[in-house]
Amino acid sequence: MALTGIEIFKMLPKTNCKECGFPTCLAFAMALASGKAELDKCPYVSEEVKEKLAEASAPPIRPIKLGPKDATKTIGGELVQFRHEKTFFNPTIISGRVTTAMADAEVEALLKQFMALQFERVGLNLRPEMISVIDKDGDAGKFAALVKKVMAGSDALILLRSDKVEVLKAGAEVAKERRPILASATPENADTMGALAKEMDLPLVAKAEGYDALAELTTKLTGMGVKDLILNSAPKTVKQMLQDNIVFRRAALVPKFRPFGFPVINCVSMMTDDIKKQAAYAAIGIAKYAGIVVLSDLAPHVVFPLLLQRLNIYTDPQKPMIVTQGIYPLNNPDENSPIAITTNFALTYFIVSGEIEGSKVPTWLLIMDTEGLSVMTAWAAGKFAGDAVGSFVKKSGISDKAKTRTLIIPGYAAGISGDLEEELPDWKILIGPREASHIPAFLKAQV
Ligand code: SF4
Repeated sequence: MALTGIEIFKMLPKTNCKECGFPTCLAFAMALASGKAELDKCPYVSEEVKEKLAEASAPPIRPIKLGPKDATKTIGGELVQFRHEKTFFNPTIISGRVTTAMADAEVEALLKQFMALQFERVGLNLRPEMISVIDKDGDAGKFAALVKKVMAGSDALILLRSDKVEVLKAGAEVAKERRPILASATPENADTMGALAKEMDLPLVAKAEGYDALAELTTKLTGMGVKDLILNSAPKTVKQMLQDNIVFRRAALVPKFRPFGFPVINCVSMMTDDIKKQAAYAAIGIAKYAGIVVLSDLAPHVVFPLLLQRLNIYTDPQKPMIVTQGIYPLNNPDENSPIAITTNFALTYFIVSGEIEGSKVPTWLLIMDTEGLSVMTAWAAGKFAGDAVGSFVKKSGISDKAKTRTLIIPGYAAGISGDLEEELPDWKILIGPREASHIPAFLKAQV
């Protein structure tokens, strides 16, 4: 049974040295009890206590690090079932797939597509991260050559799949600098696959149909010393996949059922050849707990919506996405260029700045900190009021950069213009458009 924070505290050194990053041993104990800290952050815990606390302090779903040390991605490590309870931390990894049965040109095309699939949104680079390399004919040399090609042609995280341990080992040797995932250990080959994963210290997919069989398999593999496991229940239908994902998450969180305390992989490419269905299945996996989804194709119209969906699911709902308050010069403005202002909600910034850039009109864009609220919400909450906006404009330093004394405010904040005129008596306040799409025409009319 899990220990309470006080029970854990009794076993800690109680020196309050802060080396764990917490102000006191008690705070660290409380964080351990709720799965929000890891025991190895305290360097002074004895081996004996470590053993006693290992069970209580382990996170309910083991975080697994993938990839090389300088570009690590983590899957698992989640603490809640519902995003609104806290947040989801480690976004689902999206994987494409190449096989030894594919022609060289097909492989090269997929690698090229993988590298090209990068989208800038709200200041983030959205892209798939993984390529799964699948053995179709049991030839270790051919498999290793394909892995080499994937390594040379991409910066992808790598998953290696073969039924034969010697084939998997040949691929793993080639890809070891990227810490590939090995797939898959089954009840039939658990001894050899487990031994390989342990020998090479690599994550391993544990695959079995049925909850009892999968729990037995992960228990056996952890008993062999393989700690980084990924669950695959080999669902045949999307209904089964969703049910399994939910069962694993619930079992890991609430009774802390350790055999299911690992991230999950959904190989939707194995469930259907229809790429549209794969996209729909992957979307369900991203929404409900998949650590990795594997698609057979990385067509942009399939991947882009999944990337956006993932961004939404894995954005902390309690923290609006924001940009830094300040002056943003767009299209090389000079001292005569117009000055516009809006809030620091990231979406607002990127939409407004995108329209201004598209207009080609040199403009100074002032971004005011409204704690990440959009214009209307910030105005309603009193964070984009005339006096606050006026005070910000005075302190922003824009007067040193531009001679213009005309300030364009968002159309939805027209109500602040009176107060703003009082706050900025030397300025002319212009009410801009309500819709961002009307900004280019509005700006062009000003110059
Ligand atoms: Fe206490 Fe260990 Fe943290 Fe120091 S590092 S404050 S001893 S828990």
